[in-house]
Amino acid sequence: MPPHLLQEVHPPVASQQRCPLGCGATLGPAERAHHNCYRQLREAWDQRQEHSRTLVLCLLRRLRKLHRTTNLIRRQLAQLGDFLEDDTLLMSTRQEETEATPENSNGAEVWRGQRQSGI
Ligand SMILES: [Zn+2]
Repeated sequence: MPPHLLQEVHPPVASQQRCPLGCGATLGPAERAHHNCYRQLREAWDQRQEHSRTLVLCLLRRLRKLHRTTNLIRRQLAQLGDFLEDDTLLMSTRQEETEATPENSNGAEVWRGQRQSGI
């Protein structure tokens, strides 16, 4: 028998063996004793989970920051709106003052108060 056929009949299975659990690792006798592909898979999974967690946390932090910024802008826009409303209200009140009694301007104050509490 040629030597390469002998090798096929007796492959180095005794020393080197594929992992019986099918993870694809080739294991020597010493490795086989310690090998636990479930542990390795779990560790890899944990690492991926940790990585995903970090990504999600980072994304959440960014979202919160964006939310804060959006709220700030919204508040500032509301203030600007109030300011512009007050301005037009003052202008209209001034116009009313020139042509009507002070009772009318009091009515405008009450109206504005109601509007602001309503928001
Ligand atoms: Zn394995």
